[in-house]
Amino acid sequence: MTMKIGIAGYGNLGKGVECAIRHNPDLELSAVFTRREPASVTLLTPGVKVYSMNEAVSKKDSIDVMILCGGSAVDLPEQTPLLARYFNVVDSFDTHARIPRHYEAVDEAAKKGNKVGIISVGWDPGMFSLNRLYADAVLPGGHDDTFWGRGVSQGHSDAIRRIQGVKDARQYTIPVEAALEAVRSGKYTELSAREKHTRECFVVAEENADLNRIREEIVSMPYYFADYNTTVHFISEEELNRDHKGIPHGGFVIRSGKTGWEDEHSHVIEYSLKLDSNPEFTASVLTAYARAAYRLNQEGQSGCKTVFDIAPAYLSALSGDQLRGHLL
Ligand code: NDP
Repeated sequence: MTMKIGIAGYGNLGKGVECAIRHNPDLELSAVFTRREPASVTLLTPGVKVYSMNEAVSKKDSIDVMILCGGSAVDLPEQTPLLARYFNVVDSFDTHARIPRHYEAVDEAAKKGNKVGIISVGWDPGMFSLNRLYADAVLPGGHDDTFWGRGVSQGHSDAIRRIQGVKDARQYTIPVEAALEAVRSGKYTELSAREKHTRECFVVAEENADLNRIREEIVSMPYYFADYNTTVHFISEEELNRDHKGIPHGGFVIRSGKTGWEDEHSHVIEYSLKLDSNPEFTASVLTAYARAAYRLNQEGQSGCKTVFDIAPAYLSALSGDQLRGHLL
């Protein structure tokens, strides 16, 4: 029997979940829900219907897990607690500082509805968080660093687009190679934001815009660019569409620590991701965790969980025997 999946919100991530379901024969796409006019949303999967988000609750008995694909800034804080009352849910909420508050809201709703809600699933938070936890538990007292990139930061690209005279923009976050090497070699130095990452911006300016002013506004923008070495390239719209349309990302979680009576032995743990498509990879992680949400709920569990609470076997389509035989 296949597990029936609903998708709430059909943007990059929603489409990514649809693609991931195609790679998992134990899962089946049941329906997609959107806040837009359903007729305006065209799916890749033939025969699956798009409904208004307002109709979601009426489908609660035909969906095993709802995967929420809205944005973290505004959509998920509202949608995840709302839907966790009626569905097992998984979301990718990635505003790190607000995770505890989101957890409380989803926990309350999911417990009321006897459902399981798994939040903050993806690569960061998500796979990176797991690797930070494993490394911290195995090498206590060590030192860990996370680097992001090379990849597109949607938030930084949006910040540039808000500058007067900018038509479009794409911002890449790039780890500084020397900093990566220092951390890999086990040097416990405290690195500043500037020492760890650089920022490269590709900007399409409006005709007759003052390029020097735009460049100055970008590199001096507090929080986003002021603390980094930032390069700005002005390019044509054609170049942006030709060379910068993808959404690649990735990064590194590196932990170094020591063992031995006198700390005589050093160890480095490194986990890295090189993603051609950030949303498709994130969606693939969400889809694996949908399996866990359903199975935990079948066992009678309810409430909010994060990746830290889920045993790895719950993610896999393979049986316990198969896992012990092939992957252990
Ligand atoms: P999008 O902007 O593509 O989609 C967000 C929502 O916007 C959709 O669910 C959709 O809702 C709406 N939308 C999409 N396209 C349109 C359109 N053409 N017109 C109007 N509305 C539209 O965001 P992403 O899918 O790229 O990312 C979603 C979130 O995923 C991000 O906010 C980020 O926080 C999170 N994320 C988490 C990661 C992690 O590692 N944990 C990694 C990557 C992303 P509706 O269908 O209801 O209109």
